[in-house]
Amino acid sequence: MAISFFTPKTDADIAERSSMIDIRSVNKFYKTAVGDYRALTDVDLQIGAGEFVSIIGKSGSGKTTLLNMITGIDRPSDGEVWVNGTGVHTLNENRMARWRGKNLGVVFQFFQLLPMISVIENIMLPMDFCRMYTPAERRKRAMELLDLVELADHAHKLPTALSGGQQQRVAIARALANDPPVIIADEPTGNLDSKTAESVFALFNDLVEKGKTIIIVTHDSAMAKRTHRTALIADGEIVNEYVAKAMPTLTHTQLLQATKSARKMNFEAGAMILSEGTNADTFYVVAQGTVEVILPRLNQSDVVALQLGPGKVFGEMEFFHEKKHRASIRASESGAVEVLAIGYEKLSELLDQSEVTREALNQMANRHQGENLSWRGGSS
Ligand code: ADP
Ligand code: MG
Repeated sequence: MAISFFTPKTDADIAERSSMIDIRSVNKFYKTAVGDYRALTDVDLQIGAGEFVSIIGKSGSGKTTLLNMITGIDRPSDGEVWVNGTGVHTLNENRMARWRGKNLGVVFQFFQLLPMISVIENIMLPMDFCRMYTPAERRKRAMELLDLVELADHAHKLPTALSGGQQQRVAIARALANDPPVIIADEPTGNLDSKTAESVFALFNDLVEKGKTIIIVTHDSAMAKRTHRTALIADGEIVNEYVAKAMPTLTHTQLLQATKSARKMNFEAGAMILSEGTNADTFYVVAQGTVEVILPRLNQSDVVALQLGPGKVFGEMEFFHEKKHRASIRASESGAVEVLAIGYEKLSELLDQSEVTREALNQMANRHQGENLSWRGGSS
């Protein structure tokens, strides 16, 4: 798949904007009779080319609002939205429609096919609008797309003659009409039975394998787990995915609280993060790279006992046991490391609200304590 990025000006721009979708500090307020309603708060989200990302969250949490920022169906109150190198927030209505037609395929929960025209005409419509192919090519391409979604036999029927699952597959074929790099789907399986939902999901999987970047909003957490990455949104804010991975038993609101309490810390490859014997007051979640847990051994050289990747934690043992670091922690030589630091006081407040999370961390702490002792050779 050919991806055209805008011409970056600085190295920082290259590093920060080389994602297919880059949402930066987006806020969205809706005007209502009782004043402004804040639907999105400081949303940052980067999605790379070829990624398959699911967005989950309770009803009313802001999922559709977020998708509307990406598709340009609505605009952020402030912040920036970059898609495939274009600042979506900067486009006027005229340019928006044409830009969207070429860059995004949008799939809705209720299909939204035009009922008076045939299935194949529905698929040709975006090509006509963007004048992407010659008129003869448009019909041929529409048939190929119908073939792809296994509905070639139904090309000349009206959409209402088709089942829900079939209509959604037509909607996906329509979304692919102009061969956009990005597909955005808002609860595409929300109105389908589970078997039909599965076939629609399989179709998305095929498209990801062909190089498309796909974002789906879904209520189905089992389905979300099968995408590359899940963004959880709670009360209009994005929950840090590694915090969610580290403490999966917290509620969405608690995860958001944990995300807000966490401080990001960055380390270069090989840098020391904390030293054995020092006082412990912080719980850490690895967000990027790998950290090494280094243990001193009696009459022997230090040893790397464990390697922890994204979503893994350290500092939990000292929270439950003696508040002194029982190991040194170092960024591995393989690359830079980002960790999220949550002070013990904040962690304590969180665990007071979630007995099951406390128990899970406590068990992990006990297990690590045991491993720590055995590595030391039963000494100390
Ligand atoms: P989701 O898709 O996660 O169910 P939405 O993004 O549709 O949530 O809505 C987020 C919040 O914003 C909800 O509380 C909803 O009522 C509110 N909202 C959505 N659209 C509007 C609008 N046009 N005007 C006022 N409030 C809105
Ligand atoms: Mg919605």
